[in-house]
Amino acid sequence: MSALPCRRRPGRRSCPGHIVVFRPDLPARIERRCDSCGDEDVISGWEGTSFDLRASKHRRSTGTVADIVVPDEVATALRDLQLLDADCGRLVYQARAADDGVVLSADGDELDELLGFVAAEANHEPNRRRQQRLDRAFAVLSDALQTMGS
Ligand SMILES: [Zn+2]
Repeated sequence: MSALPCRRRPGRRSCPGHIVVFRPDLPARIERRCDSCGDEDVISGWEGTSFDLRASKHRRSTGTVADIVVPDEVATALRDLQLLDADCGRLVYQARAADDGVVLSADGDELDELLGFVAAEANHEPNRRRQQRLDRAFAVLSDALQTMGS
């Protein structure tokens, strides 16, 4: 179950669901379904597009990977980042929905890299409300990085 919110509005209310994704081996199509309203569709032809966030073959995580639980609004702020590279984009979009928030899996280096993107964007964000949201995301991730002891 991904951290992505369902965009539908059944009965004119925001659907509270999360998108459940499933990618069978071949052909590489992705099935998506909302876990609340049941809305579903299939994505194909995504390989090689800018949405293809599969790891390049030489990229290997070297540190100890930890699960970091962040509030929903932090995950939303991370998805709205404009400057992410593929590695950080993968980290953000691989996040999973959990009962107590959103779970990011990252090692210390990856988290540090993501923090750099958040800080850079917060520095250049003219909108005060969005900047505060980025500052909050930065604080949450900094705490997590310190807890990891790296
Ligand atoms: Zn839904």
